[in-house]
Amino acid sequence: MIKNAIFLAILTTSSSVLAGVHWGYEGPEGPENWGKLSAEYQICQTGKNQSPININHIQHAKLDKMEIHYDQIDGNIVNNGHTIQVSENDNSDYIVLDDEKYFLNQFHFHTPSENQIERKTFPAECHFVHTDKSGNLMVLAIMFEEGDSNPVVDKLFSILDDEENHPNNFAHLDISALLPVQKHYYRFSGSLTTPPCSEGVIWNVMAQPVTLSKAQIDRFEKVFKHHNNRPIQPLNGRLIVADE
Ligand SMILES: [Zn+2]
Repeated sequence: MIKNAIFLAILTTSSSVLAGVHWGYEGPEGPENWGKLSAEYQICQTGKNQSPININHIQHAKLDKMEIHYDQIDGNIVNNGHTIQVSENDNSDYIVLDDEKYFLNQFHFHTPSENQIERKTFPAECHFVHTDKSGNLMVLAIMFEEGDSNPVVDKLFSILDDEENHPNNFAHLDISALLPVQKHYYRFSGSLTTPPCSEGVIWNVMAQPVTLSKAQIDRFEKVFKHHNNRPIQPLNGRLIVADE
């Protein structure tokens, strides 16, 4: 009996450690309280380089061209309760930035957008999350505006189980079609936009949005049940650079 109780206690402890303290987008677990929910989330409140931001007062510079090597991916898609997340199985897709290779781990969606471009909020935003060999994080963000239906999102929706934590596998999904034609982007330093809000993340936000149909935007909103965008964070003197 005691042995079982101890076993159960260990199980519960380890699973809560793995999952982290619960957080959300509404009420006492909402973004304004993330920094108080756990010592590990403190930087959500005290950090000076937090994301998302309003992209404004842009400096133009000669930035290296981003080389995007996205192709067909195998992976799975899940509604994890915070977002719809697509994970790649073999991290074979990558972006070369300043001679460093950043491998794609996963991408996920926010509605409405988290970052703003000159105070404009978009109906949705996609974050492609990458890491280099040393574990440095780089996010490529794509904005969505309302327009034509997006074929990649259609394919994803056909595989997605709306039910939370029911992942479904897929093969040979061409994600390059999620990218805009023009590859101009804004770069700045920021953080994860969800707890633990870790800083030192390189952000590259594409200037040109791609489109989603009204029905696709509605489906995101239906699956999420509520908005999943963290409010805009102060810039605190950070520079936002755009490629010329
Ligand atoms: Zn995100």
